[in-house]
Amino acid sequence: MEAFDLYRFYHNGDDETAALRGVSLRLRAGELVALMGPSGSGKSTLLACLAGLDEPDGGHVEVMGLRMSRRPEAARAALRARHVGILMQSGNLFEHLTVEVNMRLQMSLSGHSTQRTIDHLLDVTGLSRQRHAHPSQLSGGEAARAGLAVALSSNPRVLLADEPTAEVDGVTEAGILNHLMERCRTGMAVLIATHSKVLASRADHLLSIRDGDIIHA
Ligand code: ADP
Repeated sequence: MEAFDLYRFYHNGDDETAALRGVSLRLRAGELVALMGPSGSGKSTLLACLAGLDEPDGGHVEVMGLRMSRRPEAARAALRARHVGILMQSGNLFEHLTVEVNMRLQMSLSGHSTQRTIDHLLDVTGLSRQRHAHPSQLSGGEAARAGLAVALSSNPRVLLADEPTAEVDGVTEAGILNHLMERCRTGMAVLIATHSKVLASRADHLLSIRDGDIIHA
């Protein structure tokens, strides 16, 4: 996945916020990259643009060599379903479906049938007992992990995740991290927005973002 000179502005009356100011990055197969920056620095906006859930005002995104930006919503959705797993801060689960059915739905949308991974992913994310729970019955941290399980169930080539290990204990975080690293070894590229020092210390690269701009150390 590659981003070329992304700009994103938000307007509120006369106020303009430059949430992204010329962000370029490349995420290679097999790489785990941690995106770190203070609240409001543009992490969520960047992930949304990379996933094609949001459109940049300038620049573009390519997924597996195919342009994602400024294509019809149906084309973006198809590209996303086939190649990208995404965990945003909220809105990752269908409220009327259980955790397991959310995972099955994601699998069928992506065209991948990886039935055997459901039990494994529920185990890795510490949600075996919540398999039949509805999203409203989950805590914030459980909902984030369920969103991660959904994102991974389609076996994506690229995983984009906003704080997947917020509110989890150290053992579960380590388990999730090990699983992500295993997936990386099979070629998945991972970009994680996180404040977790543990996660950052295991990443192949760190990207720092400040005021909508990647800081190169
Ligand atoms: P982070 O994920 O790092 O906390 P965000 O991408 O959410 O940062 O936000 C980047 C900047 O854009 C912040 O200044 C935020 O207030 C602003 N912003 C984000 N979403 C909107 C929106 N929908 N409307 C107006 N401003 C927004």
